[in-house]
Amino acid sequence: MRRGYRSKGQDRGLSSGRRIAGAAVWTIALVLSACSAGSTSKSASQDPPGILQPSQEQQELSGSTGSAGSAGDAGLSGRVQFSTPAKQYRFIVGQSDPASPIPAPAATTDPASPLQAAAPVPAPAPTQTPTSPAASVKSKKPAIPVQRQQEQQAKRKLTLGELRHKYSDIFKVNGQPGVKRIALTFDDGPDQLYTPQILDVLKAHQVKATFFLLGKRAEANPNIVQRIVQEGHVIGNHSYSHPLFTKLSVEEYKQQIDRTSAILQAQIGYTPKLIRPPYGEITEEQLQWTGSNRYVIVNWNIDSLDWKGLSADQVSHNIISHARGGAIVLQHSAGGDKQNLSGTVAALSTVISKIKADGYELVTVPQLLKLSKQM
Ligand code: ZN
Repeated sequence: MRRGYRSKGQDRGLSSGRRIAGAAVWTIALVLSACSAGSTSKSASQDPPGILQPSQEQQELSGSTGSAGSAGDAGLSGRVQFSTPAKQYRFIVGQSDPASPIPAPAATTDPASPLQAAAPVPAPAPTQTPTSPAASVKSKKPAIPVQRQQEQQAKRKLTLGELRHKYSDIFKVNGQPGVKRIALTFDDGPDQLYTPQILDVLKAHQVKATFFLLGKRAEANPNIVQRIVQEGHVIGNHSYSHPLFTKLSVEEYKQQIDRTSAILQAQIGYTPKLIRPPYGEITEEQLQWTGSNRYVIVNWNIDSLDWKGLSADQVSHNIISHARGGAIVLQHSAGGDKQNLSGTVAALSTVISKIKADGYELVTVPQLLKLSKQM
């Protein structure tokens, strides 16, 4: 299941990458290939009731990946106000057809023709004269409206690269290219196995890094969260249960962020400002919520690909061969049950030494981006 998801993600990444130039191409491809702690979630069946279009949501979830489910979401319903199903449905319709003032095709098309109701008719209002049957026929094959519809659809779903450009103030993948600074980041922790080993290496080299934690794992491993903070590292929000955000409504996205914020706030004394979406994926509507709530999305432009269980040599090569000023490096400090991150741990000392030897300073993401770590 997970493998299936990844290849889909990578495909999408390539498609995104074609639209943007230079380094962004591989950046986006990398963005979509990483973050593999989805195995923490085993069930997608506990989503809160009343969420919009549940059958479609579940179908999409099960069709794409079991690993991106939302097992932890069951506990969310106590904290969050849900809209009625009707309201949610209306909202989704609005999302899928933002340029149209018409909420649903059925309401605007010829009621006598069920087939026509399924056809795209974004702006047929002037032709809907009840006295003119010809007008009704005419509206069946409106060349321009179809084209407009296609344009609207193309416009509706921006690629990650396009979103990054459009929302560059709140969607980051690197710092200033000119600076001799690089930020190491570690996702999916904390755990009791790999995170402590990574902390040991960072401590030995006196390097501060940024850990994007899962709320669920922070709850389960509070002592490791404390150690991360005490040793001077920065903590970011990596969702509660590692779902694929693009399969979530804005409300569900908000739940994942808010719940994790609350957990981390209680443990570390601040609400992390930085969010890293699982798999690097996010929708435009979620980005807008992110900006409105003063969070910042931080992806990466160097992927160690360590989630594949690579050797130390492979991991260090993937990082060092791409190292450059302003880079944000993705690694993992915890994985799924069958994930082996020993390569990450074994590579880290070499990576740090080499990057430093090349004249770079290793900094946290807030230092690199000149942002506050907290809200
Ligand atoms: Zn992840």
